[in-house]
Amino acid sequence: MTIAIHATPDESRQRELIVEFGRSLYERGLTAGSSGNLSVRLADGWLLTPTNASLGRLDPARLSKLDDDGTLISGEPPSKEAFLHQAMYRQRGKAGAIVHLHSTYSAAVSCMCGLDHDDCIPPLTPYFVMKIGRLPLVPYHRPGDPALASVIGKLACKHSAVLLANHGPVVSGSTLEAAVNAAEELEETAKLFLLLRGVPTRPLTPQQIDELTSTFGLDH
Ligand code: ZN
Repeated sequence: MTIAIHATPDESRQRELIVEFGRSLYERGLTAGSSGNLSVRLADGWLLTPTNASLGRLDPARLSKLDDDGTLISGEPPSKEAFLHQAMYRQRGKAGAIVHLHSTYSAAVSCMCGLDHDDCIPPLTPYFVMKIGRLPLVPYHRPGDPALASVIGKLACKHSAVLLANHGPVVSGSTLEAAVNAAEELEETAKLFLLLRGVPTRPLTPQQIDELTSTFGLDH
C-alpha cells in the first residue's frame, strides 16, 4: 500500500533525507532494531519516523506528519517518543531537526553512577564543545512517561542536547545533517570517555572553552 502525499519540493527533500540518514545510522550500528527516531521541522508542522519502524528501512511516503500540537496529519502512527521531539522544538525555535538514538556508548554512559547531572560528559575535545557543549542528564523516566516532556523542556531552553538516564541522547540541530553530526560527535566522545576511565585525563579548561565560545560564536 502506498500512502498518497502531496508534498512541497522541500518536504519531499526532507522525507528523502530522513530515509537516507536513517539508513546510514542503521548500517553503521548507531541504532538497532526499531530503536531511535528522527524528525524534521516543516513550514506547516513536522515529520517524524513512525512507531516500530527500523531506521534502516524507512519509506518516505509513510513517515508521520504532525501539526505543531503533535496531532497526526498523515502517514503512519508516530513514534511513541514524539513528545520528546515536541518538547524540544517548543523551546528551541531555531532547531530544524532532532535525532534520538539508543547508541551504545552514549547509552552506556547514561547508565553510569556518579555522573555530574549538569554536565555528564567532560569537554574532552573542542569538537564536542562546538557541537554539543554542556550535556545535562535527564533523570530516569519510564518510556512514554509524559512527565519527561516538562523536564526536557526546561533543559532544552539552554541546551541543544540532553542525555536521558538509562536510555540515550536527544540532539537538536539547525538541519537534519547538523543534528546527525552532533549525535555522532556525542557518541564518539562517549566512547572516548569510557576508554579513558581510570586514566588520568586532561579535559579542556574553562579558558579553552571560553576561547572556543568566542571564536566560533557558540550558542547551545
Ligand atoms: Zn528512546
